[in-house]
Amino acid sequence: MDVDFCVVGAGFGGLTTALRLKQAGHTVALLEARDRVGGRTWTETRDDGLWIDRGGAWIGPGQDAIYALMKEFGIASYKQPTEGDAMMFVEGKKYRYNGTIPLSMSPWAVANIGTVFLELTQMCKQIDPHAPWDAPKAKKWDQTTWAGWLDRNTLSKPARQLLEHSVAGLYTSAASEISLLFVLYQMASAGGPSFVLGVKDAAEDERVVGGMGAIHRAICNELGDSLHLSQPVRSIAQDADGVTVRSDDMVVRARRAVVAVPVSIVSQINFEPMLPMDRSFLQQRMPSGAVYKIALVYDEPWWRADGLSGQSFGAGSMASLTIDASTDRESPAVLCVITEGPEARKMTKLSEEERKKGVIDAVAARFGEKARTLTDYVEQNWTIERYSGGGMIAHAPPGVLTEFGPSLREPCGRIHWAGTESSAIMYGFIDGAVRSGERAAVEVMEHEAMKVAP
Ligand SMILES: Cc1cc2nc3c(=O)[nH]c(=O)nc-3n(C[C@H](O)[C@H](O)[C@H](O)COP(=O)(O)OP(=O)(O)OC[C@H]3O[C@@H](n4cnc5c(N)ncnc54)[C@H](O)[C@@H]3O)c2cc1C
Repeated sequence: MDVDFCVVGAGFGGLTTALRLKQAGHTVALLEARDRVGGRTWTETRDDGLWIDRGGAWIGPGQDAIYALMKEFGIASYKQPTEGDAMMFVEGKKYRYNGTIPLSMSPWAVANIGTVFLELTQMCKQIDPHAPWDAPKAKKWDQTTWAGWLDRNTLSKPARQLLEHSVAGLYTSAASEISLLFVLYQMASAGGPSFVLGVKDAAEDERVVGGMGAIHRAICNELGDSLHLSQPVRSIAQDADGVTVRSDDMVVRARRAVVAVPVSIVSQINFEPMLPMDRSFLQQRMPSGAVYKIALVYDEPWWRADGLSGQSFGAGSMASLTIDASTDRESPAVLCVITEGPEARKMTKLSEEERKKGVIDAVAARFGEKARTLTDYVEQNWTIERYSGGGMIAHAPPGVLTEFGPSLREPCGRIHWAGTESSAIMYGFIDGAVRSGERAAVEVMEHEAMKVAP
């Protein structure tokens, strides 16, 4: 097959790249390994009309790229109900609270969270998300882990747990694995710490009507036969005139390729000639973590009647985080459980039945016996997904951003990079993936000295 451009991977990064190239009048082949599109977003729509987002789901303020894409296709969003109290559990003690910070913690703990938040805000201001490795203190911050920094800056145990897990949880890894510079970079890429720490009114609190699948379907309709499913790309060769992309049963010849595969698993593709050293080394050094996203389905959102929002958090539990993930209809209702990092790795070693029992017991211990009245249990373990390499997103361990960071987006000859991990703005979010696709499409067209369609 001969096309202008070949795009590898049909998550939001690749879908947006292919969409923009096609809209600009180019021929495109989008090769996707799985038999579905969406990558780390995946909506299951059931016969009773309930849809469940098994991966990325929430969107929020400042995520203009995903909202613009939805507007283009006439897809609506709705506010995820958040009224009611949240709960946090530290060493057996329960804190019930409204807002972002459990003010029922000791004044000492609350003050500690406040000072850490201010400090992070100041540090983020010193970071240009387009080049975090150039920040004046980049080297120093990149030698420190998130755990190490918290050791020096948190004196209260509950404050420490809240801060450690709300950040490390996002990278689905232990806080000791993550570079402080990387944490600051991701916060800066989302406009500061409020977004990443889930501060009320600054965080992702909206959902897409119909789930992420509604957007996938709209894009796929436009892509038509440019999309090729079940085509895991095995090799990409480049020469002076173009690229040759090979899957198990397709060979695509194009002028340029955009690879929109998670950075942690790009090395599964054989590049000929080999990629430049810094890019290869970057790919070897940016891992993803372990995460379960589980939907507990109920006839109704019973927690709301108890004055609860459905949000609860307790480190070291098989139900680390719970969130109300119901659709825009009242029934059926969904309580989502997200368990990540070391706890998720432990869960993977249990049998399906042991895991299910453990999760339900943990939720019932927090919310009471009504938690056992579920009508369905839908478990998604991203850790064992070959074409995701884990979830939610790849992070940089110490030393990686300052040594190899510039290779995150830099094209390698005729090979360009898309995907959320290549986005300077909203790194790690669905919105970042969309932005990366918009950028990569312009990039390849500019490299071929073509004009972007109005
Ligand atoms: C459990 C979970 C919850 C999340 N929650 C949120 C949330 O609420 N809000 C938010 O903004 N973000 C969330 N995220 C993150 C968000 O889902 C991702 O940032 C985003 O979907 C990444 O899109 P992408 O296109 O960069 O990569 P992906 O979605 O991973 O797409 C990459 C694609 O490449 C394909 N592929 C891989 N290898 C090959 C190959 N060799 N050949 C061909 N194709 C290949 C894959 O199958 C996949 O389709 C969550 C992620 C997870 C896992």
